[in-house]
Amino acid sequence: MRPVRFNINAKTANIADAIGAPPPGFAGEGFFSTKMSDVVGLARKNSLWPLPFATSCCGIEFMATMASHYDLSRFGAERVGFSPRQCDLLMVMGTISKKMGPVLRQVYLQMAEPRWVIAVGACASSGGIFDTYSVLQGIDQVIPVDVYVPGCPPRPEAIIDGFMRIQDLVGQESIRRRNGEQYKALLNSYGIE
Ligand code: SF4
Repeated sequence: MRPVRFNINAKTANIADAIGAPPPGFAGEGFFSTKMSDVVGLARKNSLWPLPFATSCCGIEFMATMASHYDLSRFGAERVGFSPRQCDLLMVMGTISKKMGPVLRQVYLQMAEPRWVIAVGACASSGGIFDTYSVLQGIDQVIPVDVYVPGCPPRPEAIIDGFMRIQDLVGQESIRRRNGEQYKALLNSYGIE
């Protein structure tokens, strides 16, 4: 049986650890000024709404990630949604067959900008062990992916690590990026206008 280690060394919660360091700026008595982009990034990265697209075993690891022991809520992401129009983080977990590819793409297209994508596990990232005629060899064949989480299955710690990498990207992203030529070229390379 896999040993379970409970946290017996409780740490005092520190809000700065939870939301990350404040953005660079100028502070004085009663005021703090910084860039608009940094403030938006700070808010976005601590209030991501995940849309779990789970098709197989990796989805079970995600359930553990959401449950009380690992508790993704600590990162401001407890509001898991199943409506693409309300979510901004698509988490793809499991084997995606080629027949499922267009469905996944449609879900992605229905999400409003800004949106981010994590490929959780070997299957979503590369097809995994299923090197067969029917399985998509990585979801990045149909939609752009921001972070890949390796493992078959990845443990909840790995999923949380991938989530924190997304938070880093979100926090540092310029609010102008989505209107930029580079981003449009990326979408165009997937046939998305
Ligand atoms: S990566 Fe492994 S655990 Fe995850 S869906 Fe594929 S076969 Fe299952």
